[in-house]
Amino acid sequence: MPTLSIELVPCLSDNYAYLVTDPAQKLCAVVDPSEAGPVREKLRAGNVKLTHILNTHHHPDHTGGNLALKEEFGAIIVGPEKDRARIPGLDVGVSEKAPWQFGSKKVSVLEIPAHTSGHIAFVFAEDKAAFTGDTLFAMGCGRLFEGTAAMMWAAMQKLMALPDDTAVYCGHEYTLSNGRFALTLEPGNADLQARMREVEELRAKGLPTIPTTIGLEKRTNPFMRPNAPELRATLGMEKAHDVDVLAETRRRKDNF
Ligand code: ZN
Ligand code: FE
Repeated sequence: MPTLSIELVPCLSDNYAYLVTDPAQKLCAVVDPSEAGPVREKLRAGNVKLTHILNTHHHPDHTGGNLALKEEFGAIIVGPEKDRARIPGLDVGVSEKAPWQFGSKKVSVLEIPAHTSGHIAFVFAEDKAAFTGDTLFAMGCGRLFEGTAAMMWAAMQKLMALPDDTAVYCGHEYTLSNGRFALTLEPGNADLQARMREVEELRAKGLPTIPTTIGLEKRTNPFMRPNAPELRATLGMEKAHDVDVLAETRRRKDNF
């Protein structure tokens, strides 16, 4: 039964942390706390006590609040075992083979390296929610800092295998510029055009564009669409392998 409440916590300039609360179990986790301040304020406003900190990867804009929040609340830090040495205060190391339990709820772990070598996603299947850090963004993907295009394409395929109605909570509000880039590759994609109108409206009001869903990403995210004919035609790569198309898409985005 879906029973979690999920709240966005804007941090730094364009990061999102998330509070995942299970009132029945008196549990509250924060995903990727860039900094302690905004998380602490959100907890105080909701009168909840933090029990867990979840990290998708080691970058400071996802782990910067770890130690302060751990000290203040005695929260348990859960993150990729592979990155134990790079995640401040890590208590519980997880992997695909060693997933996690949020009280009575099963949380699966997807290993999706490419942005960093230890990057993971947390999937709350019962509640149809996935936390994808800096691997999958709305209409985008993370830069390839510690991996290859082949690794990113493998990561995208793992995420595409989730149910279409899975809500996706990512690490940054990059949606507007991601969408503008996506339109350069698929100007004729009607789903993309419609989505961009919504995104422009939301951003004009200063509202978040998150969560997205796996289904919507499959229809509008160029990094999930290396086989889309219009995208391939734009790149002049009609006959290329999916991985090479994704690699070229990523290269162009790096210079967009
Ligand atoms: Zn990152
Ligand atoms: Fe980040």
